[in-house]
Amino acid sequence: MTEIPDLSGRVALVTGASRGIGYQIAKQMAAAGAHVIAVARTVGGLEDLDDEIKKAGGEATLVPLDLTDMAGIDRLGGAINDRWGKLDILVANAGALGVISPLGHVEAKVFDKVMAVNVTGTWRLIRSVDPLLRKSDAGRAIILSSGAAHSARAFWGPYAASKAAVEALARSWADETKNSALRVNSVDPGATRTAMRAQAMPGEDPDTLPKPAETAAKILPLASPALTETGKLFQVHHERFVSYRMPE
Ligand code: NDP
Repeated sequence: MTEIPDLSGRVALVTGASRGIGYQIAKQMAAAGAHVIAVARTVGGLEDLDDEIKKAGGEATLVPLDLTDMAGIDRLGGAINDRWGKLDILVANAGALGVISPLGHVEAKVFDKVMAVNVTGTWRLIRSVDPLLRKSDAGRAIILSSGAAHSARAFWGPYAASKAAVEALARSWADETKNSALRVNSVDPGATRTAMRAQAMPGEDPDTLPKPAETAAKILPLASPALTETGKLFQVHHERFVSYRMPE
């Protein structure tokens, strides 16, 4: 699964597109022919992406949006419907780490923020674009998870819980849509050289990790109209799909 798919004429919504893995997914999808709708809070990061995409001859629409703004997410779905009448690809990539800390020391507002961005925001986005993805002839949803969803690791509690929850959402959605053209899969991108990883593992040498562009290139095939898998977890580091009965 290393071939970059032809995404000509497809409309792709990518969240967390201002930096890291989401930035590279957006850039590579535009290079593959998609019109990318790039969502994040940081306008500077979105503008850098737009410059790169335009220089390469691609197309993007920038959407500065905080994914804790539920009404904003609803409006985004409406705006996509007005302009394109469908959505072909959703990449729910935006994520918040919170703090790496014993559960007893986690501040309530930090816990709530992680859940708001990673779980509630993702559900609200799913709710907003589900009808649009079903209007595509080959809708593809890619939900970014983490190995933390399956591991028993001290101090990662809120983030791990949020990623386990978002995978559960993806599984349910995949089952709901299994008789449609929509394919829904979660992705564990594996350790990747980004700001989030540096925040989580400050003592680690980032040069030992794959760059976001390398991780993104392995995720892109999940957007292919030819993809058949649904309701699975794709592990980027193993380059394989696993079912939920045996995640490792
Ligand atoms: P980064 O921290 O580099 O980027 C996170 C992205 O999410 C940014 O574009 C940020 O944009 C966006 N984001 C965060 N909060 C919000 C918000 N409230 N509203 C809108 N956008 C938001 O993370 P990575 O690229 O490392 O991670 C991408 C995904 O991969 C995440 O879901 C992460 O959990 C997952 N992952 C990453 C791993 C790694 O090693 N890097 C390993 C396992 C999983 P902005 O701040 O501009 O809003």
